[in-house]
Amino acid sequence: MTGISIKQALRMASHAIAGSDTVQLDAELLLAAVLGKSRTYLYTWPEQVLTPSERSYFESVLERRVMGEPVAYILGTRDFWTLTLRVNRHVLIPRPETELLVETALALVTTPDASIADLGTGSGAIALSIASERPAWKIVATDMSGAALMVASDNASLLNIANVEFRQGSWCEALPPMLFDLIVSNPPYIDSTDPHLTQGDLRFEPRSALVAADDGLADIRALCSQAPHCLKPGGWLLLEHGWTQGPTVAAILQSSGLESVQTLKDLNGNDRLTLGRRALVLPG
Ligand code: GLN
Repeated sequence: MTGISIKQALRMASHAIAGSDTVQLDAELLLAAVLGKSRTYLYTWPEQVLTPSERSYFESVLERRVMGEPVAYILGTRDFWTLTLRVNRHVLIPRPETELLVETALALVTTPDASIADLGTGSGAIALSIASERPAWKIVATDMSGAALMVASDNASLLNIANVEFRQGSWCEALPPMLFDLIVSNPPYIDSTDPHLTQGDLRFEPRSALVAADDGLADIRALCSQAPHCLKPGGWLLLEHGWTQGPTVAAILQSSGLESVQTLKDLNGNDRLTLGRRALVLPG
């Protein structure tokens, strides 16, 4: 077997994974991981020849990618916000769109010692990003899945983030008896008949993190019926949802009694987040 260079290995990989939306990036991330180097290294040393063991390791990860396995699960990590998070098949792969939720959360709350809840935390992406920016805030992160909470709490330890408490359970039932300045969630919101579920990365991700009954709205409805009771007066509920769900989710928040309801668009111009706040002066 003659040696192949970094440049040839990248070309071979791009051919093999031609179906992916992010062919070049996938190839670079996988080869960099196999070599234990940065992506920049690949362009600095394009003529460097792979050792036989590097080549066979690269071929094996490429094979997994060709079978459709997401790059994040093959690498075991995904960058989100300023953090590198561990991920596995028990958690959704953090999406760039969700960084808007983190950004919005940080802008909404100005209290120095705020209490925040992240419901359905998965890898911990949202809770840990907020916690890393606001070490004085107290953050509670919940999930139904014990396997997901292990990933999230491992991420907290690896990143030395100490201000997040992890609790297992369904939505607000998992929360301690206290009121929050902000409750955030990226709940499951895809309808079970959505054809995207049979395509790309979604095929490998936990269904319980993606799919909800009632046209994808069942969990959003459950959250909206519970969360207002767990908010301080003036506290915010901030939810991620599908790009067609903005008006419906806004109506659900309104009928849960929340005020100042608005929907925000992501960088692609799609409705992505809806927020509303509990009244400052409570009736009665
Ligand atoms: N945004 C994800 C997707 O469309 C779904 C995430 C979710 O259901 N919370 O792939």
